[in-house]
Amino acid sequence: MNRVIAGRRVWAIVPAAGRGERFTSATTHKVSAKQYAPLLGASVIEWSLRALLAETRVHAVVVVLAAGDAHWPAIAAKLNNPKLCTTIGGTNRQDSVMNGLEFLMSQAAPNDWILVHDAARPCFTATDLSSLLDALDAQGALDPRDGSADVVGAVLSAPIVDTVKRELGGNVATVDRQGLWRALTPQVFAFEQLRHALKEAALAGIAVTDEAQAVERMGLRPALVQGSPFNIKITRAPDLRVAAKILQL
Ligand code: C5P
Repeated sequence: MNRVIAGRRVWAIVPAAGRGERFTSATTHKVSAKQYAPLLGASVIEWSLRALLAETRVHAVVVVLAAGDAHWPAIAAKLNNPKLCTTIGGTNRQDSVMNGLEFLMSQAAPNDWILVHDAARPCFTATDLSSLLDALDAQGALDPRDGSADVVGAVLSAPIVDTVKRELGGNVATVDRQGLWRALTPQVFAFEQLRHALKEAALAGIAVTDEAQAVERMGLRPALVQGSPFNIKITRAPDLRVAAKILQL
């Protein structure tokens, strides 16, 4: 039996409220929201949503938008998918994810799964999504009543394969790469656990760069699920060319 389906619903939150401070459009040469950059006949966000909208185990997808977003309505009309809903984001990614959680407050159960996926990761595949959801099922651990309750949620990740250097004040050292992973998205956690962890991080004034960091602060251990190293985040304009090549593989 598929426990993801049987016991706990899966909701996706897609933070898409960034204004792309590090992304300069190749055509207009202006800073622009990278999630709406054109990519192989669609926008980046359409690619990023593709696997989530196609997966029957994902109940609904909350896209978190910047206030006054002028791009989304046309895309929503084009996608015309009843799983899509929207809310307004905050000043940083952490706040935007929190707003997505607040939006789901009246609908999601405390133990439902919340999957957070960046709108700027268009190369995320259905295969990676399946691995992540299968890991939740397989863990069983994720049922708080069994013995491994400190293992919570799952983070799509890729092992670091390069030699890693740390440069500090002109000194360069080699970091042992044993056990080092790149944390990708999606990341999945139980609704209430994630909400609590993000709230605590905010109260402590800690800006977390992913959901797992907030959950780790609570002494919990997210599972790392190995995904494709090609699930890149669009950060600068040339990344779009790389993404296009990956999508054409
Ligand atoms: O800027 P960065 O690459 O970290 O953004 C990751 C994701 O977070 C993007 O999809 C971006 O739209 C989103 N974001 C957001 N709200 C913000 C800033 C970023 O939803 N205030």
